[in-house]
Order: sequence, then structure tokens, then C-alpha cells
Amino acid sequence: MTSNLKLDTKTASKLAINGAEPVRQTLLPYGRQSISKSDIEQVTKTLQSDWLTQGPEIEKFEAAVAKFAGVKYAVAYSSGTSALHGAYFAADLQKDQEVLLAPITFAATGNAALYLGANPVFCDVEPDTGNIDLAKVESKISKKTKILVGIDFAGHPCDADELSQIARKHNLVLIVDAAHSLGATYKGKQAGSLADMSILSFHPVKSLTTGEGGMVLTNSPEYYDRLLKFRTHGIEKRRDKLVNLDENQGSWYHEMQELGYNYRITDIQAALGSSQLERLSEFIKRRRQIAETYRKELATISGIKPLIEKEYVQSAYHLFPILITKDPVAANRKLVFEALRAENIGVQVHYIPVYRHPYYQKNVVANNKPDCPNADRFYEGEISLPMFPSMTEQDIKDVVTALKKISQELLI
Ligand SMILES: *Cc1c(COP(=O)(O)O)cnc(C)c1O
Repeated sequence: MTSNLKLDTKTASKLAINGAEPVRQTLLPYGRQSISKSDIEQVTKTLQSDWLTQGPEIEKFEAAVAKFAGVKYAVAYSSGTSALHGAYFAADLQKDQEVLLAPITFAATGNAALYLGANPVFCDVEPDTGNIDLAKVESKISKKTKILVGIDFAGHPCDADELSQIARKHNLVLIVDAAHSLGATYKGKQAGSLADMSILSFHPVKSLTTGEGGMVLTNSPEYYDRLLKFRTHGIEKRRDKLVNLDENQGSWYHEMQELGYNYRITDIQAALGSSQLERLSEFIKRRRQIAETYRKELATISGIKPLIEKEYVQSAYHLFPILITKDPVAANRKLVFEALRAENIGVQVHYIPVYRHPYYQKNVVANNKPDCPNADRFYEGEISLPMFPSMTEQDIKDVVTALKKISQELLI
């Protein structure tokens, strides 16, 4: 704890940051997986099978997620990041073309464009959801723009209908980074089904986990083909698709037609994913209950506010972000964050705007900071509260107690 956070006021003496007892003795993480006995059984069964990778579990998992989301095709990848790389490749993103995205996201959403020699361009966000601001999208589109990316920040789907219209009008491919939103709905439709391609992540803090893992969802057979190829070294085996086939080439013959990668998921992971998918509705239901309790309690706490949930959306609540409202916002955010950590409440910040990272400053925005005032303000006030399905009522109470105490001492 840095010393400038020490408060001299007598009234702050109840805070753990100033030496008082913390609200709880052990750290409550901001997110964590929930692994059941049947999850473990499914993984064990796969370990004892003939296949550890490229076996039947992968297609089973892909079919199950495609069915859940209501899309035709699903291609599992080794991570959400490699899924983004695959989706941008499938969209035929070329060197020096542009990918338009919001900066309130994990760096991978931008990095995957850099992998292909393309340039991420940042569009500002809505202040009350953190999602891309529709009103600002068109002014950022240039002749070089190829892909428009919506990010379902914190599990709240972005406005895919409007983004689709803009994408059609300007001949762009719409990709939604749905790493946070599997299990959410938008106008009654499942997140992950609303764009030309959507990507998912199965990292342990996400809606469901495979350890590491990701997926691309699409209704397009052309994208599906390219996604499969890219995942396995760019290799094609189907005889009717081979370009150099002649009478001397037997059934061994295959071709590497594109520069792909080994981005495969294992059967072990896919078995865990299928088992977790059966519990997804239960996970989302619990996340939504926790969010409801947080909302009720936050209404009585001054100096902070939650994000909104639009009336046509049911968020998957990957995160429960709050925004500090009391000025000076950035200083108060730092204080409240460190005070919550001292109470053993494992808060996080999502996200440092991507363009603020040194790599981006040096190589992407060349120290010309993009004009994203809402994203900067959002970042300066944001704190993500603990949110995961296995949180107990006592865990929730601890978060609320700590917030109330800190608000009374610091934000009145
Ligand atoms: C987690 C995440 C990713 C990357 O997923 P990994 O599986 O960790 O590679 C991409 N975008 C967003 C918004 C994420 O939260």
C-alpha cells in the first residue's frame, strides 16, 4: 500500500487500509471457475479414450455450442485470442487495412489485427455500458477499414442490429468479441449469433471454461472453411479442393494452401467444455441474481454507480463494473480500489484503454492519443466487483459491507 493513501482523518480509522480489521480474512477473487464432479468425470473419461486431441469431443463441443447459440457453424480454437486471429484471417484482413474497435477491451482484440499487419483504429464508447458508441462509428470508417468489431463488454451485448447496418452500408465484416457474453441475450437472440462472426473465450473467469480455449461462431460456409484451415496450419485435405493434384498423387496427398497455425483445442478441453455447457444456464442465472443484489444495495451507497442494462438485453454479467462518480474521479478510484483490496475484496479494473499501453503508444497510435474521452473517463472511474457463480450470500454481503464502509468514510 502506498503511503499517500493513508488518511489522516480520524473518521477513516474503520478501514483496513488504515490498519483496522478487514471485512474478511481471505481474499475474495473477482472471478473464478466452477468445476463439478461430472466435469471431472468427463475429462477423466477422455483421458482414458483413444483421443487426446483431434478426436470426437471437439466436434461434439462445437455442435453443442452452435446449437445453444443458434448458429450453423462453430470452430473451436486454443484460446479466445487465437479465435480472434482466425476470425480476422477468415474475413480476409490484409496488411495495412484497418480494424475499427472500442478501446475498453482486452488487448487481444486489437493485437489480433497486428498479427496480420493490419491497424487497430479506436472508436469511443458509451459512458453507461462501455460498449462502442454507435453515433461515433461512421466518422472513424476510412477506405482502409475492413472489419468492424463490437465488444460485449462485461457480458452486455453491443447494439448488433445497428452495427450490422453500418457494416452492410460500408461493406465491412462485422465481428463481435463475445468473450464476455456467452449466455446473454439481445432482443431475444443469443449473444454470439448476431454478427458475421463472433468469438468466444473459455478462460477460467469467462461464462464457461475449458482451461484455455476459444471458438468462432458463424453462419457462413466460406468463413467456416477458412477458420478450419487456419486452425490447422492452413492445410487442405479434401481432394476436390486441392490445387496441384495430379495422377501421381495418392490418398496421402494434401496441401498447405495458407499460412495457418496450430491453434487446435484438445479433446480433453472440449470434454470439459461440453460438460460446462450443460451448466451454463445455471451459471448465468446465478450471475444475474448476484447482479440484482448488487444493484439493490448500490442504490443506497453514495459516490458510485453501476452500469446500465438496456431493456432489450439480458446481460451474462461476466463482470459487475461500478463507476466512481465523486470528483476527483481518478484519485477516488485509486483510493477506493486500494481500500477494497485491503478489506480482502479482490477487485480489478477493466480495462486500461488499449491505446494507453506502451506497445500501442509506440507502434500503433504513435503518441497521437485517439480521441476517446468517454473511454478515458470510463477507465478512470471503473472498478470491477467480484462476480462468479459460486459466490456465497456471505461473499456478496462482504463486498457490500466493504463498499458501504468505504463510501461512508471516503465518498460522502
Ligand atoms: C478473455 C478475452 C479475450 C481473449 O481470450 P483468451 O481466451 O484469454 O485468449 C479476448 N477479448 C476479450 C474481451 C476477453 O475478455
